[in-house]
Amino acid sequence: MLVAGNWKMFKGPSETAAFLDAFEPPTEVEVVVCPPFTSLAAAVGRGIPVYAQNVHWASEGAFTGEVSAPMLLELGVQGAIVGHSERRQYFGETDETVGMRTEHALEAGLRVIACVGESEHERERGETQDVLRRQVGVLNAHENLVVAYEPVWAIGTGKTATPEIAQEAHAFIKSLLDVPVLYGGSVKPENAEPLLAQGHVDGALVGGASLEVESFTAICETATRRFRS
Ligand code: PEP
Repeated sequence: MLVAGNWKMFKGPSETAAFLDAFEPPTEVEVVVCPPFTSLAAAVGRGIPVYAQNVHWASEGAFTGEVSAPMLLELGVQGAIVGHSERRQYFGETDETVGMRTEHALEAGLRVIACVGESEHERERGETQDVLRRQVGVLNAHENLVVAYEPVWAIGTGKTATPEIAQEAHAFIKSLLDVPVLYGGSVKPENAEPLLAQGHVDGALVGGASLEVESFTAICETATRRFRS
């Protein structure tokens, strides 16, 4: 069971340090936080693994605005999110670049949370499985790879996939690739329990609700209860 907090473009170094000083990670489930690049150094060494929100496919080079796996590893960062829907939607991330980023990050020794998920339009047109097949198709199973199923229509919208929708999508993803699958999309303390109770849901990628110590702690506690049962 893994619970990852994606802080998106929130929390500079001082807010990051304050959050992690106040947050007590559970011992039975794995919890990681993914702060913005400029807060990574402030987050490392505060008792919880730190992941970046993106990573480039080259070790170094003329790639303005990008950060490489060796640079993250030198800071003490242990993993990275790759292919978040906001990267795909606003920054031209493609299946091809998601595959390249993931492969090189894993080769370099980072752990990776690779994000997949259909848009509302694609779900309405019955294309969910085609989209997932295409997005998962660029990934190869690896012991340090986890997939996050994040239906785009549920991210930051307050709309959550029903536990049944999540279970079905996760089972489909696992039929394509044998890796743990996290659910992401408006996970909150109020809805975490039934989602994490699904047999194919191996944890959560949490955006908005990971920004407050109280709500993130409550989700981690739910994950701990599910892990014990
Ligand atoms: C995310 O950013 O990965 C996410 C799932 O966001 P939210 O929980 O806010 O929907």
